[in-house]
Amino acid sequence: MRIDVLSIFPEMVEAFASAGLLGKGRRNGLVEVRVHDLRSVTTDAHRSVDDAPFGGGAGMVLMAEPIFATVEAVDPPRPLLALGPGGRRFDQAMARELVATGGFSLLCGRYEGIDHRVHTNLIDGEVSIGDYVLAGGEVAAMVIMEAVGRLVPGVMGNANSAEDESFSDGLLEYPQYTRPATLRDLAVPEVLLSGDHGRVARWRRAQSLLRTAQNRPDLWHARGGLGPEEQRLLAEFGLVLPASMGAAAGGEPAHS
Ligand code: SAH
Repeated sequence: MRIDVLSIFPEMVEAFASAGLLGKGRRNGLVEVRVHDLRSVTTDAHRSVDDAPFGGGAGMVLMAEPIFATVEAVDPPRPLLALGPGGRRFDQAMARELVATGGFSLLCGRYEGIDHRVHTNLIDGEVSIGDYVLAGGEVAAMVIMEAVGRLVPGVMGNANSAEDESFSDGLLEYPQYTRPATLRDLAVPEVLLSGDHGRVARWRRAQSLLRTAQNRPDLWHARGGLGPEEQRLLAEFGLVLPASMGAAAGGEPAHS
């Protein structure tokens, strides 16, 4: 996996990509991250990368030329995706799509944004990490690098850990506990200490269903509610869904 990042703050991205799971993946040769400074292609004394917007208005705009010149100089892997609040919303499904590309690039905007000719004539798409406005694309690039990097085979120690985590099957993950079994009078659910692997798996599935129904009605309705097997699972552990979410699979919520 190769990820190239184009930014006017390369040291931010480089520092981030050197730590933790991603840093380890790089040192092990599983992920290659190359960070390119958009200022390195500038020719003026101030190494300018921005200018005032045509038509007037507040703020500055990242100029197109340093971005075109950097792309020509380094030939970053495609797709080349710009970060921006107007792009396709990043999610776990997109992280899986990106890991399957084998290589892609991220262009970080700054100021009021990027000269639109970069959007129309250079990049392959735009990605947003959520409906809020950041001061620059670097944090968004870090989010994407981290979410994709941990899916690269071999980066996470346990190959199974990506399989049953949140969003992998349209559900949130079940609650996790570790030692001690009792902490300040708070006990771990007894099923987890039972040694009954089948029962543990059923409990986890039931908890995933409950958490998703409680916290993420959007995910819950997208997967089409509850099948008869899942109803039995919840009943086994005495779990009760929020009132509007007990509908059968494919059915509409009873009340909305
Ligand atoms: N004026 C723009 C916002 C510019 S914010 C607008 O109203 O749409 C400056 C830079 O931060 C953007 O070019 C983009 O690269 C980055 N950025 C801001 N919010 C983002 C988000 N939600 N997702 C990804 N990148 C974002």
